[in-house]
Amino acid sequence: MIIIVKQNAKEERIQDLLRWIEAQNLRTHVSAGDYATIIGVIGDTSKLDADLLSGLDIVEAVKRVSEPFKSANRKFHPEDSIIEVGADKQKVGHGNFALIAGPCSVESEEQIISVARSVKAAGATMLRGGAFKPRTSPYDFQGLKADGIELLLEAKRETGLPIVTEIMNANHLPLFEEVDVIQVGARNMQNFELLKELGRTRKPILLKRGLANTIKELLMSAEYVMAGGNENIILCERGIRTFETATRNTLDLSAVPVLHELTHLPVVVDPSHATGVARYVKPMAMAAAACGADGLIIEVHNDPPHALCDGAQSLRPEQFEDVAQAVRIIRVAAAEANGQQDQ
Ligand code: PEP
Ligand code: MN
Repeated sequence: MIIIVKQNAKEERIQDLLRWIEAQNLRTHVSAGDYATIIGVIGDTSKLDADLLSGLDIVEAVKRVSEPFKSANRKFHPEDSIIEVGADKQKVGHGNFALIAGPCSVESEEQIISVARSVKAAGATMLRGGAFKPRTSPYDFQGLKADGIELLLEAKRETGLPIVTEIMNANHLPLFEEVDVIQVGARNMQNFELLKELGRTRKPILLKRGLANTIKELLMSAEYVMAGGNENIILCERGIRTFETATRNTLDLSAVPVLHELTHLPVVVDPSHATGVARYVKPMAMAAAACGADGLIIEVHNDPPHALCDGAQSLRPEQFEDVAQAVRIIRVAAAEANGQQDQ
């Protein structure tokens, strides 16, 4: 971190600042020029509050030269992380592709078992399904809650697919004992108390990017979980809010290569919530596979027009099969184009 001190700052105030920084186990390097004094701060500056420093009346500007996230940072962990999911330790990351599919919400035993069977047959590696639903309106279907998780577990017994489902309240954690991947939805990406609780578990976490959050903020949220000791995080780009109204959100696919540069954590893409329109899911899924995503999470329903949630963006099982096939073709082509071995 670099602190530029104002030209008229009194020497004793500069010395106070240096003592304060050094008291936090950091070293300083002062370079006093004719026009400005520059303090270089050396060490783990992630705990230093840059805004607080900027607010001091002797400080002209503060610049971070390294990012405030450490555990998620590729600089300190150059190899890709591989997250292991479920009893069979299914791998995600570093060329291991996750194809997560299932309905937005678990609605009934018949529905979830039938969707689970068809997505498995089409090549899905995990089953998704919401039991606790974060709905914009309190009058909309809120999910089957604990019963929904029971039904997901039944679908897992039937098909062997690991299950992914969203948590909205840390008090519900006991219900997630046998859930393989806990999803943190976009609306909870900055629910820091929830993130801290998940940091105490060792379950894989699918952390979705918030509707209006930057890539850096997503990484800081991952850092919350990792700071608690849980390093099993899969990031998810699911579209962000922009001025565009033709799609539900705007899929920020450039987040995939940017995240791969900044972090060692795997990144999956959700083309369903990103577009909100079933017919746009295939092209965006293919594009995500082409730009290096480590997986996809796609909504699939046996009867989209009658879905209790997100029917417009849900694929029928046969449409999902077509997408899965297209994604396999793209992955082979992308691996060849990048001169890599496909895995
Ligand atoms: C979901 O996956 O069903 C969901 C609610 O997603 P998001 O949090 O990305 O809106
Ligand atoms: Mn949904």
